[in-house]
Amino acid sequence: MESLFLIKPGEILLKQGNQDEFIKGLIRQLRLRMGKTVCDIFEYPGRFFLSVDSANEAKAAFVLDHCPGLNGFAKAKCCAKTVEAVLAASMEVAKEGFASGSRSFKVETRRSDKSFPLGSYETSALMGEKILAALPELTVDVHSPDLIVNLEIREKAYAYGATQKGPRGLPSGSGGRALVLLSGGIDSPVAAFLMAVRGLELDFVHFQSYPYTSIEAQRKVEKLTRLVTAWCGRSRLWVLPFTEVQQEIKKRAAVDASTIMLRSAMMEAANRIAGKIGAKAIVTGESLGQVASQTAENMRITEAPTTLPVFRPLVGLDKEDIIHLAKRIGTYETSILPYEDCCVLFSPKHPLLKPDYGSLVASYRALALTPFIERSVEGTELFKYGYTDVLTEFGVR
Ligand code: ATP
Ligand code: MG
Repeated sequence: MESLFLIKPGEILLKQGNQDEFIKGLIRQLRLRMGKTVCDIFEYPGRFFLSVDSANEAKAAFVLDHCPGLNGFAKAKCCAKTVEAVLAASMEVAKEGFASGSRSFKVETRRSDKSFPLGSYETSALMGEKILAALPELTVDVHSPDLIVNLEIREKAYAYGATQKGPRGLPSGSGGRALVLLSGGIDSPVAAFLMAVRGLELDFVHFQSYPYTSIEAQRKVEKLTRLVTAWCGRSRLWVLPFTEVQQEIKKRAAVDASTIMLRSAMMEAANRIAGKIGAKAIVTGESLGQVASQTAENMRITEAPTTLPVFRPLVGLDKEDIIHLAKRIGTYETSILPYEDCCVLFSPKHPLLKPDYGSLVASYRALALTPFIERSVEGTELFKYGYTDVLTEFGVR
């Protein structure tokens, strides 16, 4: 048996001159994620379709649920453009809805093929009447029905019930590649998710301070990367040994500036990785004022070592909102596992809140950390994740 999904794209439809590129990008992403699973993906103006053997329906639903560029999708029935066939398909949708608990319904018809013998309103009215006659326990509710029987009369006719929301945004890769600074905390995976949905392919960099941070802390970051890769399709994680850099900072920097120095060093290292991989931007999980190192002054200083734009999608979000998002995308439970991040290790009791830009950038330069950072980059451990790793992580077959 075949399962057919009707897919509603979102922002792609607002594109004018280059819409084709986005359409191709979305189809490429769906194929990449479906991997070796045989499936048919096709596009008609305003809609995409994915058909797959029913044995792989759960996998297809997972892929659609996590593929940026989709506003929503629904399991649909495709039939001939005759009143009888549309009626039979509507009836099936209504019966399935009733079987899964719906007690009120309405029919909504969109008819772009004007050669269909009935108008949209007439189609809805006729189907509604027939459904009521066949299933008298159902009632009609045009305001907030349990079930909407959707009919679309286009190149073919389609009937479907509940529509599931997609992640929206733009297809992965349409915005290029970015490098995410991924700690093991709550914030940075959420920042990565938000940027993935805007169409960025992502690489991740994590700074570990073994033996001050544990191997479990790194395993947690590897897992967070696989979880977030559900949205960006594939990824690489660059784990950099940063102990030596941190020790240098500890030895030579003013105590109250040590966090800013460490952040600047992370940015310098990230800038190097970004250059290697052609990333167009750097992403962090910073949120204005959340901690002392996330003031406007501090952000300006810590981004000085790069000329790339630094995206901070959480900058205006409240911690509660960030936690809510982390729970929704499934990273929260992993993020709260109690392993130390390297930043905490040497953090001063009273960090600078309003540091002077000129003097701190000069202090950072005076530390001359570049040789240490180069060594750290040379010592990178690289992990690559594809969609099979994602599906395994989420337990989807
Ligand atoms: P998170 O929850 O993402 O850890 P946080 O609120 O704990 O954020 P900080 O520890 O101040 O904030 O870190 C701010 C940002 O710096 C993080 O969101 C992340 O982008 C980056 N960062 C911090 N530590 C690391 C690390 N060890 N490796 C890579 N990036 C890091
Ligand atoms: Mg942190």
